[in-house]
Amino acid sequence: MNPLWMDNEDAPLETPAPLPRDTSPRVAYEMNKLEKRLCRHMGQAIIDFNMIEAGDKVMVCMSGGKDSYGMLDILLKLKARAPIHFDIVAVNLDQKQPGFPEHVLPEYLATTGVPFHIENQDTYSIVKEKIAPGKTMCSLCSRLRRGILYRVADDLGATKIALGHHRDDMLQTFFLNMFYGGKLKGMPPKLVSDDGRHVVIRPLAYAVETDLARWAEHRRFPIIPCTLCGSQENLQRKQVAAMLREWEKKHPGRVESMFTALQNVVPSHLMDRRQHGFADLKATGVANPDGDKAFDPDDGDLAFAPPAPPAQQAVAMPVSRKPGAPVHAAS
Ligand code: SF4
Repeated sequence: MNPLWMDNEDAPLETPAPLPRDTSPRVAYEMNKLEKRLCRHMGQAIIDFNMIEAGDKVMVCMSGGKDSYGMLDILLKLKARAPIHFDIVAVNLDQKQPGFPEHVLPEYLATTGVPFHIENQDTYSIVKEKIAPGKTMCSLCSRLRRGILYRVADDLGATKIALGHHRDDMLQTFFLNMFYGGKLKGMPPKLVSDDGRHVVIRPLAYAVETDLARWAEHRRFPIIPCTLCGSQENLQRKQVAAMLREWEKKHPGRVESMFTALQNVVPSHLMDRRQHGFADLKATGVANPDGDKAFDPDDGDLAFAPPAPPAQQAVAMPVSRKPGAPVHAAS
């Protein structure tokens, strides 16, 4: 799995023949609800993290996976009704993996009317040459891709680089970092790139993977598999994904609760001395109604909700949610 911008999915190598479209009123109703939910989740993420501002040129990175198709599709819908003007340019990096169907994305993008750029760079040969057979190629492959995308963003005058990671990618990354990296660190919805020169956004941060899969099916996106390179699967990520699915099956709502927790961090109740000045703590003599019970056992504040964020100079996307309320997967 590509840690930077390709999608997590197990798409089949062959795109199956499309099933006859179910045009029943029930399906139409469900798809309408799904579209509204995806728009609401993306609009809310854009507002909460001030992802897109007037005049931005957003470079939407298209891998050909379901998530990047969904990201572009929903972003185009929001752009049509956004109260501000911003531009979108879709970009695909053709890494020259054997069998990559290079006509698929240009053909699809031409139907959307969105300006697009296909960058042809044979990183596949470089990676094959440098990495011993049987070893995972993803790390070098991602590094090369990242550098190319930053350069392309400069060439195109893009002010934001949009990646198609969703809520479930973010939670998986959080657990991977905890289990294997000894860090409480996730995948941020917005960050400054490691070269310090670009702002990377993840407009699908609140979107649920199953919603994106359903949307891709409904919209019949021409999915390109992420397995063409023949790299070994990221076993650890797959295991974490399976663990999260299992938890959710046994304890419905747990995934959403964990995702809310990522938005509701209490550094004073963790142990990172860089995040909280434990050494300088002094009694204040002033009671804090929200403070720790100190001697009483505390099973946690189960009525969780992230604190209200500071007021944002954000794109007023047409969504409604009370400030500070958790973003719910279901509507
Ligand atoms: S090596 Fe293959 S699976 Fe890994 S990041 Fe590159 S394209 Fe994706």
